[in-house]
Amino acid sequence: MTSARTRERLINRLREKGIHDPRVLDVIRNTPRHLFIDEALAHQAYDDTALPIGHGQTISQPWVVARMTELLIEKTVPGKVLEVGTGSGYQTAVLAALCEQVWSVERIRPLQDMARRRLQTLGMARVQLRHADGGFGWASEAPFDGILAACGRPDIPEELLSQLADGGRLVMPVGEAEQQWLTVVDRIGDDFRTTRLDAVRFVPFRRGILR
Ligand code: SAH
Repeated sequence: MTSARTRERLINRLREKGIHDPRVLDVIRNTPRHLFIDEALAHQAYDDTALPIGHGQTISQPWVVARMTELLIEKTVPGKVLEVGTGSGYQTAVLAALCEQVWSVERIRPLQDMARRRLQTLGMARVQLRHADGGFGWASEAPFDGILAACGRPDIPEELLSQLADGGRLVMPVGEAEQQWLTVVDRIGDDFRTTRLDAVRFVPFRRGILR
């Protein structure tokens, strides 16, 4: 169910779907996705699908995690990364395996608590988690070399753009609930270069926090 063969099948599937960065494939191969979901769903952990994690949210599809990570590290591996939407903590674990420092924000408290326990169990002590509205970024730790959001909305929050370091890259789904596009923003001085890529569907980027 969670065997090396099952995981290798997922890696092959990701390759077929266009993921080629060996660093990303290695991290996905070595990250135990079954530990980030309910035990009852563990038999689907290495399928390339999003799965429910409670509170109306989902653990991202492995292809989405791989694609966003590949885009984030494409030019250089960012040292300092901000993630918006910790959710299960799975993408957080993938980022932490590649980048020096990861700050991750989640608006739903019980999800954050669960993610914290899982990341601690995996020995990922360098990850910083915060219960907050990620629309405001994490001002006290800015600037970030990379910003990745796992929830979509029609516009990119100004605060996130202003917390992106010069030379940094932001990756986020942008669009309405039914139709979003993975969008990459490269900051060069005060110039923000936006590129629209794959059609995707994420849970919404909401305002405020839930306890
Ligand atoms: N990468 C995560 C995806 C979780 S789904 C995983 O694989 O598990 C996206 C998450 O974004 C949800 O947990 C949702 O609660 C959170 N979210 C939505 N809007 C947010 C906001 N404004 N600030 C912080 N988190 C937010």
